[in-house]
Amino acid sequence: MDQSRRTFLRTAGIAVLGISGGGSYVAARAIAAGQHDGGKTAAGVRYALAIDTQKCAAQHGCTACITACHAEHNVPAVDVPEREIKWIWKEEAEHALHEYFDDYTSDELRRREIPVLCNHCDNPPCVRVCPTQATYKRADGPVMMDMHRCIGCRYCVVGCPYGARSFNYGDPREFLPNGEPTNARYPTRSKGVVEKCTLCTERLARGLRPACVEACPAGAMLFGDLEDPGSEIRAFLQTNFTVRRKAEVGTRPHVHYKL
Ligand code: SF4
Repeated sequence: MDQSRRTFLRTAGIAVLGISGGGSYVAARAIAAGQHDGGKTAAGVRYALAIDTQKCAAQHGCTACITACHAEHNVPAVDVPEREIKWIWKEEAEHALHEYFDDYTSDELRRREIPVLCNHCDNPPCVRVCPTQATYKRADGPVMMDMHRCIGCRYCVVGCPYGARSFNYGDPREFLPNGEPTNARYPTRSKGVVEKCTLCTERLARGLRPACVEACPAGAMLFGDLEDPGSEIRAFLQTNFTVRRKAEVGTRPHVHYKL
């Protein structure tokens, strides 16, 4: 086992111990009390994603990451565009990362379809605007949803500059494939709440990587701890030029893209 994987599993194991002690809900809220402080988290761990869009594009229309995520989390397949529920989806690079393009950017790069999702921002506006603290940030990075506190006001939907949040206008259980959850371990949601990517915290607690990362046939998605100098994601960010979506708005997003 390589060092980064060993370190990751050790960290995840600590998370499991912490959560099993007092129930996952209480533990998650306690973790959420921590804050990210200019590059160092209170947890000493900062989970993040990096995406190599060249490797992704080489798979020509692959949607394995989306399929795996949506199956893992029982994401309803609502086929009305304005009511669609999305945790991870694809957009043309020109749309998602337009600020990095100019008149001379190649058509291939403009049209490149790249995965987009919640950026698990260090400075998340969705958390600031939520009146009930239904959305909150864990000290180790993931921005979470507490469905029991969500009142469906959708301030977070408006506050997110990335369109990363979806509102359930109807009962999402009516839109599950074959009417049944694809993953009986993961809770379904109800009408009137907002949902989004959680960076697979339920999988991290079991020592697993996010479902999208596991599913990618090209190894285009990397997950890891930015505070671990030996991690694969740190090495990737140190040896590749990467960008983040709308970094100029001050959200400090943590999905990093190699173009
Ligand atoms: Fe919140 Fe949007 Fe940032 Fe995710 S991407 S943390 S939903 S502001």
